[in-house]
Amino acid sequence: MKYYSTNKEAFIVSLQEAVVKGLAPDRGLYMPERIARLPQKFFDGMMDLSLQGISKTVAEAFFGEDIPKEKLDAIVGDTLSFEIPLKKVEDGIYVLELFHGPTFAFKDVGARFMARMLSHFVKEKQEEVNVLVATSGDTGSAVANGFLGVEGIRVFVLYPSGKVSDMQEAQFTTLGQNIVALEVDGTFDDCQALVKSAFMDDELNKRIKLTSANSINVARFLPQSFYYFWAYAQLVRQTQFTKMVISVPSGNLGNLTAGLFAKRMGLPVDRFIAANNRNDVFREYLQTGQYNPRASVQTIANAMDVGAPSNFDRILDLYGHSHKAITNDISSFRYSDEEISTAIKNVYIESGYLLDPHGACAYLALKEGKRSDETAIFLATAHPAKFKETVEASTGAPIQVPDALAAYMQHKKQSIPLPNDFDLFKKKLIGRS
Ligand SMILES: *Cc1c(COP(=O)(O)O)cnc(C)c1O
Repeated sequence: MKYYSTNKEAFIVSLQEAVVKGLAPDRGLYMPERIARLPQKFFDGMMDLSLQGISKTVAEAFFGEDIPKEKLDAIVGDTLSFEIPLKKVEDGIYVLELFHGPTFAFKDVGARFMARMLSHFVKEKQEEVNVLVATSGDTGSAVANGFLGVEGIRVFVLYPSGKVSDMQEAQFTTLGQNIVALEVDGTFDDCQALVKSAFMDDELNKRIKLTSANSINVARFLPQSFYYFWAYAQLVRQTQFTKMVISVPSGNLGNLTAGLFAKRMGLPVDRFIAANNRNDVFREYLQTGQYNPRASVQTIANAMDVGAPSNFDRILDLYGHSHKAITNDISSFRYSDEEISTAIKNVYIESGYLLDPHGACAYLALKEGKRSDETAIFLATAHPAKFKETVEASTGAPIQVPDALAAYMQHKKQSIPLPNDFDLFKKKLIGRS
């Protein structure tokens, strides 16, 4: 399968190139040139398949031409080494819990898959690859844990010293092995600038192989379609329904776009709802047809604090730039911090279910937007214990932190201090290759 750029000004490339490059040279996003419709017998037989079984079939539709089946099955099996259960919250509303992976957030799925696929391609070429990632907190943990112990790959996580939470810092500074945490004396923007300079430095790129684990990478983005099929299979097992709507807490729109791909592949979902916090650029686009990216504002659902969603161009491309076609399949709602916090409290009191701020946003969008003849699923993208202070302040009750999450805090921090200086950063990279 070949991949083209949404900007249509770059050459089409192989899967391998799309994965190693990440962003296309014309700064567009790579799209697969075909999205295969899965056969009816797959959907008929899905009820007897496991999460892994379903995901292997979906993975084959995208990557089957480029990776031997045995290898691809192993990548999928390794990636999905945890459960993704669908649970009933109240009549007509179900939650897909995407937070049972190593860092307790849905980004584990994409990061783990990408790490294994990149390792496969690196082994073919027999050269070590250095993954650079700048993080303001959550991406660093998913990427570092996803790549932990993966052969042929070394990861450098750059983060702003003193500007990430203790829990976030512990998730990428205590791992050791092939993960190097660089604690930068600067801001997140400084970290990002250092990474960008590294990609543009000719001498550095001649000496070592660099790549990014950015969320726009096709190997991080496409695997997120797997669990939409799994959600449907579980819903069929649990209840009778005619129409299904799925609500997705949205920031960069990667998760939602993966769902739209699943629909294109034949998943019988009627429509999607994109839940926004106060950063509602996408909701505004759906309502007005105008896309006005702007600076983000801080909210309690902070993984959705995005003012210029990077996957927006993929949605435009998927629907041939038709605003009408897009609004046929997607609607959107937005919520303030107060509304999110109240929802966490009310759902906890009424049904005993504990939401995290992102899932709460998606739940609210269903309460407002679900039609009476629809059965609804919302995606819970993070474990509530990752947002302990916010959730406890909402419910007024202490929250139990899972042992595996608390365990990160027990391990020794191993970070390397780095002044905000490109030459010193370069020395660190070369010295370690
Ligand atoms: C990244 C993230 C989101 C937003 O997902 P996108 O694919 O960027 O839209 C939502 N919730 C959590 C917890 C996240 O980490």
